[in-house]
Amino acid sequence: DVKHRGRNAVSLFDPDLQAEANARAWLERNIPAGIKTNEFIPYYQPKMDSEGRCVGAEALLRWIHHERGVISPGEFIPIAEETGLINALGQSVLRQVCAQMAHWTKLDALDGMAISVNISARQFHERGFVDEVITIVEETGIDPARLQLEVTETLLLDDMNQTVEKMSALRNLGISFALDDFGTGYSSLAYLKQLPLDVLKIDQGFVQDLPDDSNDVAIVQTIIALAHSLGLDVLAEGVETAEVQDFLIQEGCRVFQGYLYSRPVPAEDFERYLQNLDDPANSKSE
Ligand code: C2E
Ligand code: MG
Ligand code: MG
Ligand code: MG
Repeated sequence: DVKHRGRNAVSLFDPDLQAEANARAWLERNIPAGIKTNEFIPYYQPKMDSEGRCVGAEALLRWIHHERGVISPGEFIPIAEETGLINALGQSVLRQVCAQMAHWTKLDALDGMAISVNISARQFHERGFVDEVITIVEETGIDPARLQLEVTETLLLDDMNQTVEKMSALRNLGISFALDDFGTGYSSLAYLKQLPLDVLKIDQGFVQDLPDDSNDVAIVQTIIALAHSLGLDVLAEGVETAEVQDFLIQEGCRVFQGYLYSRPVPAEDFERYLQNLDDPANSKSE
């Protein structure tokens, strides 16, 4: 009986580890079916400027499982990355978002906005990635200048030259790049100036305790100064209070995302929101 084999086997029967292993196995088994039956749905969270105007949105994936309900990406993205399912999943997300953008463009609702899509390092480094993106952009007919890809510093664990080459190929088409979760990864300032980036996204971990945490204040000031001196835009994630927003504005940050403005919402809700922006009856001056 394995149970009695001694110390080394004990962890196999740790109920928490067992539960975690079961959860992982369940995810691994069920993600492919979820992709096939279109249960993976991008939600949209608006990005705002300092005047309270919506300047775009980030697509954030949700798994609407037919029995289990909404499963958050924090649960399934890591498994999808490890198993390689992220390639099919990421392609499905990008296709859905671009199709949605084409629809919003027809409604004239995307005026000057950019919609961003998260791209895992593993997906980015896939051989056919650049061609896949180009195909989707062409098939949906969207303006590539309206599309932004969010990548993280883990990208840089791989061949730097190839990373720059791939980013440049997409950027030459007009697609922009944001560096997500900036400050949490394997940052070396040397690579930053080599990467063809447009935006630094300050990780929400540095944002949430502003302005009380003096370390976070120093880090955020440094990131904003760094972005500006490199000619990059800077966006703060995880803005939950007006106090945090006002502090960031005072420090020179101009684009924000967070629960203060909106949680990620389904496409229909974001569309309604975009259309109300056009309606003079809903203008802010009342
Ligand atoms: P992320 O790209 O850094 O996205 C920001 C996360 O912060 C999102 O969590 C968002 O819902 C959450 N958030 C936004 N505003 C606030 C706020 O004011 N307070 C707090 N506490 N949280 C806020 P979410 O949607 O659970 O996504 C988690 C992560 O999963 C994302 O982090 C991203 O790394 C990954 N992810 C989501 N969708 C995709 C996708 O389509 N592809 C890939 N590869 N990764 C994705
Ligand atoms: Mg992101
Ligand atoms: Mg982030
Ligand atoms: Mg993240």
